[in-house]
Amino acid sequence: MLGNEKTILGIQQENFGTSTGQDWFGTGNFITSFSPVDGNEIGKVRATTKEEYELVVSKAQIAFKEWRLIPAPKRGEIVRQLGDKLRKYKEDLGKLVSYEMGKSLQEGYGEVQEMIDICDFAVGLSRQLYGLTIHSERPSHRMYEQYHPLGIVGVITAFNFPVAVWSWNTCLALVCGDSIIWKPSEKTPLCAVACQNILAEVLKENNLPEGICSLINGEKEVGEWMSKDERIPLISATGSTRMGKEVNQVVAARLGKTLLELGGNNAIIVTPDADLKITLTAAVFGAVGTAGQRCTTTRRLIVHDSIYDQVKVILKNAYEQLKIGNPLDASNHIGPLIDQDAVRNYLLALEKIKEQGGEFLVHGGVLETEEYSSGCYVKPVIAEASNELEIVQTETFAPILYLIKYSGDVLDAIDIQNGVKQGLSSAIMTTNLREAELFLSHQGSDCGIANVNIGTSGAEIGGAFGGEKETGGGRESGSDAWKIYMRRQTNTINYSTELPLAQGIQFNF
Ligand code: NAD
Repeated sequence: MLGNEKTILGIQQENFGTSTGQDWFGTGNFITSFSPVDGNEIGKVRATTKEEYELVVSKAQIAFKEWRLIPAPKRGEIVRQLGDKLRKYKEDLGKLVSYEMGKSLQEGYGEVQEMIDICDFAVGLSRQLYGLTIHSERPSHRMYEQYHPLGIVGVITAFNFPVAVWSWNTCLALVCGDSIIWKPSEKTPLCAVACQNILAEVLKENNLPEGICSLINGEKEVGEWMSKDERIPLISATGSTRMGKEVNQVVAARLGKTLLELGGNNAIIVTPDADLKITLTAAVFGAVGTAGQRCTTTRRLIVHDSIYDQVKVILKNAYEQLKIGNPLDASNHIGPLIDQDAVRNYLLALEKIKEQGGEFLVHGGVLETEEYSSGCYVKPVIAEASNELEIVQTETFAPILYLIKYSGDVLDAIDIQNGVKQGLSSAIMTTNLREAELFLSHQGSDCGIANVNIGTSGAEIGGAFGGEKETGGGRESGSDAWKIYMRRQTNTINYSTELPLAQGIQFNF
């Protein structure tokens, strides 16, 4: 199932390199994919060369011209077929996600389910890409707005959601009439090849042009080609804040559009009125799920001093029961980090916590026995710390939870929660209506996502997903996130025999 150099998900290929729709080619360096689960090599892909990139873009331009002419609901039909294929391949693709990225099998399947859900959403959306009609101030005039396909959408994705983020962008961009070029993370290239193969099957079965959806592989340099490229009006980039700042500068210099989905530093506030049973599940799952490698991972728990000691005890107990191991085994709670670099960052963060005055409630370390032979398995950590510490202000992509005490009222907790540069996800645990409403009000959380009695991670595709401040401000997935994939046009039509000017201006001659 997991494929080798010749086949992935049953589709024969010469090699895994660049694709323009249905044909594969690629002659750049080999990128080897190792599984963090057991350290084994899974397969290799070929990186895209600059010449190949040029060909991909020109095919995407040609494909766009055809694709945009297909009525939106018919484009939706193609996405519906993609959803059906994903249902067929859910188990295989879910396992590949789990094995290549290291998340639990349930989460691997969950990620594919999210792809299916966004397909369903996009199919409905394909009949609802509507603008407003507006009353004109001029007699016998009609004014309205409409949305047109934008062009090529460049999609850059991170390793931690190696398939879902592509589908969020691709399904919406497809129904919006755009062509897509995808630069996946170099850490999870095989998941990308598998997705591209699945979509290529659909395109082929419908005799659709090459280049509607293409895959280019490589390191960040390949993403940079897209950021600089004036032929690509929108770059949707998911990854670290460092990456987002680089991409934003380059795209802004050519006045292109960006959709940025960057790092988080998410907190749960636990007030004296919290239901501690659900708080515990939300906090532990939020902090250790996907080994702390979700953008929405709970990194800070801000607890009122009246219940702080009690929360400490129940958290410590819960952490003692967590099982770390092969994520394909459903009895384990925590799988590996993505690679050795991530392990080094985790260890560095532990040193900084100590140096900066944090105190460990649950100690960390790297697991070294035979079942952890990939060297990527680490213990989840809880550290008591103050919000101002530089390390607390930083997103470390690992299962490290900071326990922060607050006294006073919920506004004090909100100050702490908002007192970081990132603004992705946030939550409050309370049964007190006033606290909950304050948290959701304009005085409350400054994040793109604010939850009550739910943790910070695990969003549904129906809502717009994204965050403020250094998280980048972009919104993906549900609600009206589709609008960024289209260009808006305001139209005014005069059906009178006069030409009245707006604002009552007279121009007689
Ligand atoms: P990363 O920034 O290292 O890489 C992400 C992607 O960007 C990769 O494909 C990489 O090759 C590319 N890239 C890097 N520098 C680039 C540049 N200068 N120009 C163009 N492309 C460039 O991130 P990662 O380690 O893969 O993922 C983890 C990060 O992603 C975390 O910070 C996490 O919070 C964030 N993330 C955010 C969201 C969200 O929706 N907000 C979702 C998932 C992950």
